[in-house]
Order: sequence, then C-alpha cells, then structure tokens
Amino acid sequence: MGDKTGQTKIIGVIQCDFARERCSGFGCMNSFTRRIDAFARYAKDAGVMLVPFNCGGCPGRRISRVAANLIKRAKKKAEVDKEEIVIHLASCIVTDNGHYPPCPHIDYIEKILKRKGLKVRKGSYRSNTASRRRAEGIYEQFDWDGE
Ligand code: SF4
Repeated sequence: MGDKTGQTKIIGVIQCDFARERCSGFGCMNSFTRRIDAFARYAKDAGVMLVPFNCGGCPGRRISRVAANLIKRAKKKAEVDKEEIVIHLASCIVTDNGHYPPCPHIDYIEKILKRKGLKVRKGSYRSNTASRRRAEGIYEQFDWDGE
C-alpha cells in the first residue's frame, strides 16, 4: 500500500462543500503536512504537491471539471502525468463523522474520477472524537488501510 517510492507527485484532496461551511480544512492539511492518518503512506521528502478542492455541492457538481483542469495543469505546468496523481476523498466525504454520515454520492464521485484515469483513495484526517465514537459503535466503521 505504500507510496514511499515517490511515484505519487500530486495529491488532490476533495472535501465536502457542506462540511467546508464550518471547516477550515486545517485537519486535512495538517495530516498531509505531517504525513499522518490517511497520508502516512507517502514519504515526507518526496516533494508531493497538495491540491485541495471542494466537491461543489451534491452530487459532486464541480468534480469532473476540476479534475480535468487539474490533469491539464499538472501536465502543462509541472510535467506530471495523470498516473502520478492520486485523489483522496476527504474524511468528511467517506467517513461517518462529526459533520454527517458518509456522502451518499461516493460511488458516483469515484466513477467520475476513475473515468478520467485518476487513482482514488479514501480518507484524510483521522479525528480522535470520531474514532472514539466509531469504537463505541455510534459511527460506522472505516477501513483506514484500504486502497
Ligand atoms: S456530494 Fe457528497 S461530498 Fe459533495 S456536498 Fe454532497 S454530501 Fe458533501
């Protein structure tokens, strides 16, 4: 499952538009910067670029357009091929958490991204409170080691 070899050059993190109404995005950026939680698989010194963006509202309204823009700009400006880009669906989308239960459009969003040739992974920031509630059976389980 590791990406310590540096094959990933750009990580896009898609966050839920509704969750972002009350979230600064700090948790995801902090986890990426420190390479913890869902980002522990990436080497710290591999020069990976982070590109966060919102889904645009249900059902992932701007994802297709932003993904296309990301692929184009990555190639043109940084010589990064789409095979070197990984998109993480943020924890606000894929986990049961303090914002909401998981997004009901995950499969649809994943299909859009995969059709564009982008690799998709699930998760970003791992909240202690949500982890505790998961352990207590209040929130649904989530596989942090999944591909
Ligand atoms: S599509 Fe999912 S991630 Fe986007 S706003 Fe709706 S619930 Fe949130």
